[in-house]
Amino acid sequence: MAKEFLLKNVTLVDGSNTDICISDGRIAAIGSDLSCSGEIIDCTALIALPGLVDLHTHLRQPGGEQSETIATGSAAAVAGGFTAIHAMANTNPVADNVSVVSFVHDTANEVGLLEVRPVGAVTVGLEGLQLADISGMHVSTASVNVFSDDGKCVSDARLMREALAKAAEIGAVIAQHAQEPTLTQDAQMNAGEVAESLGLTGWPNIAEEIIIARDILLADELGARLHICHVSTKGAVEIVRAAKARGSLVTAEVTPHHLLLTEELAETRDALYKVNPPLRTKADVMAVREALADGTIDIIATDHAPHPADKKSGDWAEAAFGMLGLETALSIAQKVLIDDLGLGWFKVAEVLSISPARIGKLANQGQPIAVGNEANLTIVNPNAARQIESLGKSKSTNNPYAGMILPGQVMHTIFRGQFSLKNSEIQNRSEGNQ
Ligand SMILES: [Zn+2]
Repeated sequence: MAKEFLLKNVTLVDGSNTDICISDGRIAAIGSDLSCSGEIIDCTALIALPGLVDLHTHLRQPGGEQSETIATGSAAAVAGGFTAIHAMANTNPVADNVSVVSFVHDTANEVGLLEVRPVGAVTVGLEGLQLADISGMHVSTASVNVFSDDGKCVSDARLMREALAKAAEIGAVIAQHAQEPTLTQDAQMNAGEVAESLGLTGWPNIAEEIIIARDILLADELGARLHICHVSTKGAVEIVRAAKARGSLVTAEVTPHHLLLTEELAETRDALYKVNPPLRTKADVMAVREALADGTIDIIATDHAPHPADKKSGDWAEAAFGMLGLETALSIAQKVLIDDLGLGWFKVAEVLSISPARIGKLANQGQPIAVGNEANLTIVNPNAARQIESLGKSKSTNNPYAGMILPGQVMHTIFRGQFSLKNSEIQNRSEGNQ
């Protein structure tokens, strides 16, 4: 792999065109008509973004290797343009101690396609009874900055308060999966007329909103940072908006699927559309879109949740919750933010790179494309429309967008100055003696 190469005539998020020379892992020069040894890659009509960062990925390893491994999840991530992801803690064994987060960190480093940051569990075994070794995981070589029991809610208010206090003390963040369990027993899909007509137990909006409101109060009392995973309801958006207006240190994410898909897909009875939190109504989709546009919701996070086919086919009530997301997130961001809402590519960079990197405290991700910075870049062709295949780089196939035509194609993913994805369809010219 060449140590130096030139991205020729690439478009930046402000619409200007330039050349970018990458050398020894860093951005060495930016400008027109640069000379740079090594390969010249024609990037005409392609957009350069700071490498995408996901705050919410399920890699399943250790313990769920039939669904995904750190290697296959890394490949899916770079195919989707990510240069950093956060691996959720609900593995088997749970990532609630230094040993497991170190395993994830070390294994990902061996794969080496992108930066994989383990998320540490908040409670031992995700059981919600006793705090995990948050400080130990934070100071370990895995340097965990994000803690979450995702998949489960830290529903005990006393424990959540202790966790927020601990996180504030060390400068970390608690990412809450907001779901009051007493209000969602046996819940299968969004509560409402569609659930009633299908005879499925409904999942009320307030189960999500009551935890968000509670946790914001707890975080405010402590001056702690709180991150809300996968906000999905209009009411949740209103709570976060009001909290931010009065200065709460709360951040929030929305998934690609909650920006695009609605509960009517459950009428197919195809468990591909079964997800936690559930797909909601059109009014909720409009509310989370508006919140993403106005900054109430800070980021798009994939909640990439691979499952084997036998857990996503058959009876809805028996199927697993979750859908794939890494390989389609940028296309959905382009469709929603640019095509539908009329925002620009800077907004895409903000919600898929700059802000998630800031929340996760990643020093070399989400940085401006500027001389001296580590070269973590995503090069996208915004004019390509592509039919989504169910089969991608993920080991699983539970892709709810299969068959849809979405805009945008990731052409190259550059991690630490090396190609972790290089699309051979683009014409390359070689110059010099490399
Ligand atoms: Zn979750």
